[in-house]
Order: sequence, then structure tokens, then C-alpha cells
Amino acid sequence: MAFIIDKLYENGYEAFAVGGCVRDAVMGRIPHDWDITTNALPKQVKSIFNKTIDTGIKHGTVTVMLNRVGYEVTTYRIDGEYTDGRHPKEVVFTPNLTEDLRRRDFTINAMAYNDKTGIIDEFDGIEDIQNKVIRCVGVPEDRFNEDALRMLRAIRFSAQLDFSIDNDTYNAIGKLYKNLSLISKERIQTELTKIITSESPGRIKDICRLGLDRYVFGDNSVLSGVDISVYEKVSYIMEKLPDNSYLRYAGLLTYETDIENVLRGLKLDNKTINIVARLVYNKNKELSTNKADIRRAVVAIGEDIFSEYYLEYMKALIKVKHEGITLSLEDIDTISFRYQEIIADNECLKLNDMAVHGKDLKALGLPDGKLIGDILKILFDRVLENPQLNNKEILIEMAKKLI
Ligand code: ATP
Ligand code: MG
Repeated sequence: MAFIIDKLYENGYEAFAVGGCVRDAVMGRIPHDWDITTNALPKQVKSIFNKTIDTGIKHGTVTVMLNRVGYEVTTYRIDGEYTDGRHPKEVVFTPNLTEDLRRRDFTINAMAYNDKTGIIDEFDGIEDIQNKVIRCVGVPEDRFNEDALRMLRAIRFSAQLDFSIDNDTYNAIGKLYKNLSLISKERIQTELTKIITSESPGRIKDICRLGLDRYVFGDNSVLSGVDISVYEKVSYIMEKLPDNSYLRYAGLLTYETDIENVLRGLKLDNKTINIVARLVYNKNKELSTNKADIRRAVVAIGEDIFSEYYLEYMKALIKVKHEGITLSLEDIDTISFRYQEIIADNECLKLNDMAVHGKDLKALGLPDGKLIGDILKILFDRVLENPQLNNKEILIEMAKKLI
């Protein structure tokens, strides 16, 4: 990063690390990427470095590749007029760093740094970091009118950093929450996912308090138009879960009746929708420490999620004393241990892993079709009950008796 900045200076330009990486460095956190801002124009940046990618050339962003790591280098810019509540009509380059910092969303994100100049903090971001406050740069209402996504970003940063939201900033969201309808569901989902997978997922409650709920979850969700108590309950569940997105979405949607609809509305991928739905819809599934019950539950819930996600979800529900759950944490440990044994013993958990197949039943003279399927299911049930039965001769004998 310092190499890129030095190189830009050698060529007569200025350059600074800017935004999230400066905030993280000030807070003693390790930045996950480094954004650089410069008065050099994109084509000038491209002429200085060997390997560059035109990431967002229209917006002034060029990615400089160094040792296989990409660094986004963006020309100082002013956002033109915002006419639609989400995008500037045009971006205008500026030779002035302060102008670039002024267009950024929050004071903590509007600092710049390089080794020559030290830190540039014209909007008191350091003070807000010390006071643990999210505050808009400039007049909050203006800033949210320009880009309504910033309202959710305020909650997102408050969740990730465990900061509170400054009063004026908070109240402006309370006034302008309806503008979130202008923002695409994809962008909303990105922020929501970051909120719930953060260290303080309970900050989700601000979505409810500020009236953003129906714009995030849609009109038909049980999280829309409800009082805060539902949010308190799901926050409590999420706080007991690891910060994995499947698990946190399951926690969030524990009371949801149409999970597919809510998650599809948020443009989540099919894998997430499928896993979260299976977790939540099976939360009251009969399960005990009995191995046959464990095998049946694994088949119903899915081997792919049973131990990694389902048992984790159950543990959280047990910790919050969720209604209808009779298992204890010790039971979950026992189930987990016995599940590992089932796997180690290679016990049959799939129709396909049975010692008989359709063709074996056909050889007994059964016609193709539903009957074969039905008999296989009955045999599978017995095998789940007692894995010793998964033997070709035994199963054929059993099948004969069923015919
Ligand atoms: P993260 O650690 O999640 O990447 P970040 O602060 O880098 O956090 P980004 O969304 O990557 O957040 O944005 C980079 C920087 O660009 C921000 O720090 C902020 O200065 C600016 N920025 C991003 N989105 C907006 C926005 N909608 N309005 C104003 N400024 C923004
Ligand atoms: Mg970033």
C-alpha cells in the first residue's frame, strides 16, 4: 500500500489511504482491504502501474495489482446531484481531498492517511471513534436524501463496531425511513447480512424502532409491523449463535412462517434459502439421544447441515428456552457424539446406501413403479431403526413378506 502511495508521489501526485481501512487502523483493527484516494486521474494511475484493472473507471476507480493483491485507487471525486435517492447523476473529479472526504457517509469513514502527512481528520472521526458514535458527515437529512442506503449502513456500522448512532443521525433516519423503498433489495441484503453476522446482531432492533422493517423484510414478514418484543427475542437467539450467516438468518427468522418468501425477497441465493428453511422448519422436530431417532432426524433434516448447523441452532434455542424444546445442552452433546459414531460406523442414512435396490425387488417379480418405491421406503425405515438389517439377504426376506 505504501508502495503505491510513494509511487504516485514520485510521479507528482498526492495519495492517501482512505475510508474503512483508516477507521480500522485507528481502532487497532486489521483492515481487510486498503482503499487509496488520489488526485491523479484514472488514466494517469494506469500509466504509472504495470498491472491495473478498470474496476469502475466511470467512477474513477482503477484496481492496481501488486503481488496478486488488488488495491482500489480512486480519483478524488465529488458526487454530482442525487436525483433518485440512491445514485449521483454524475461523478465529478476534484483536485481537492477535502471535497472527496465530505461526500463520504460517516465521520469515522471520512479520514485519510499517509506517512508524509499523517492523519487527515477534518470531520472529527477520531473523536467519534473515541465516543463510539456513528455520525453523518454534514447534515444527516441531506445525506440520507442523497442515498437512502446510508440509513442501513449506519445500523450496520453500529452493529459491527458496537457504536451508538448519534441523535441527529438517528432522528433523521426516523424521518426518512420510507426512502429505503428506493434502494434495491440486493444492496439492502448486503447490509442486513453484515448486521446480523456482526458482533452485535442485536442492533437489528433499530430496524424495527426506526420503521425500516417492511422495507427490509417485505410486507408479509412476521418481522414487519410488529412491536419490538419479537426483535428482542430473535436478537437474543442470534447472540447465542456463531457468526455464520446461515445460522444467524435462522436465528433471525425463528418465528417466520414463510422463510422462502422473505429470503427470496432479499435476493438471497438458493442454497441459503434452502438451508435456513430446513433449520427453522425443523426446530420442533422430534429428536432424542436414541440412535434410531438421531438417524431419522438426520435423514429428515439433511446430513449436510445436521451437525454443523442444526445442532448449533438447537443449542441456541435451548439457551434461550425457546418454546416447545425439551432437549438439554447435555442431550445435544450426546446426540453429537452418537452422530459421529453413526458416521464412523458408516451406517446407512440414504436410500441409495441400502443393501437392496429397485432392481433386486424387480428380480423378485415385482412390476416397475410405485410399489417398488413404497417397499424400499418401508425397508429403509426399518434400517434406520436397526442398521444391522442392512444386509441383502435379510432385506430380501423382509421384502418377500411384504409382498
Ligand atoms: P468494510 O470494512 O465493510 O469494507 P468500509 O468502510 O470499507 O467498510 P465500504 O462499503 O467498503 O465500507 O466503503 C468504503 C468507503 O467508501 C467508506 O468507508 C466510505 O468512506 C465510502 N462509502 C461507501 N459507501 C458509501 C455511501 N453509500 N455513501 C457515502 N460514502 C460511502
Ligand atoms: Mg471496504
